[in-house]
Amino acid sequence: MKLYLASGNAHKVQELAALAAGSPAARIEIFGAKAVGGMPPVNEDTGTFVGNARKKAQALRTKIPADAWALADDSGVCVDELGGGPGVESAYFAGPQGDARANLAKLEAVMRGVPDERRGAHFLCVLLAIGPAGEEMIFEGVCRGRLLHESKGWAGFGYDPLFVPDGYAESYAELGDAVKNTISHRARAWAKLAAWAKARRG
Ligand code: IMP
Repeated sequence: MKLYLASGNAHKVQELAALAAGSPAARIEIFGAKAVGGMPPVNEDTGTFVGNARKKAQALRTKIPADAWALADDSGVCVDELGGGPGVESAYFAGPQGDARANLAKLEAVMRGVPDERRGAHFLCVLLAIGPAGEEMIFEGVCRGRLLHESKGWAGFGYDPLFVPDGYAESYAELGDAVKNTISHRARAWAKLAAWAKARRG
């Protein structure tokens, strides 16, 4: 199947392309929004991961070939101490300009002094695909872990330097893409999508 990624986030696109390359049995051909003139602007204002993902997928659906699927990724980090925040607002935690470094610095600052036992968090990823007849499929992935007291590592994007997945001692950003892509929230959602794609081929 042909899947067009409804995202202007180069890091997400890179991760999803790597995940697709790692699941050849699903026979998914990945295309960036660039192939159809770029991702149309979308106001991510629904307040839910699924709602925002749906808006993004619908926006791209109108631009892609009739036999293709549009796939959107809406994701974020949900921190126990912040009642699940920033969650769906992760991209705009430090303001509407969506500055990733400022977001990371704000989370580090907000969590300063919070003891280890209250630093639990998870990443959540919703992958929402809209098909040729308007049919919708939703796949969710969660990766549980904890927040460091300060950022560590250089790989990845967003909050990666602050998040240590359960079972590991290093942050997503220290582990790097090869490891992250086997355990991440996005990888877990993708595994469900790939299993579905494989099954529907029969
Ligand atoms: P959105 O899905 O476009 O609303 O943006 C998701 C935001 O969540 C990103 O801007 C990042 O701040 C954060 N995020 C989502 N997935 C990841 C990830 O894999 N690593 C680090 N940050 C992420």
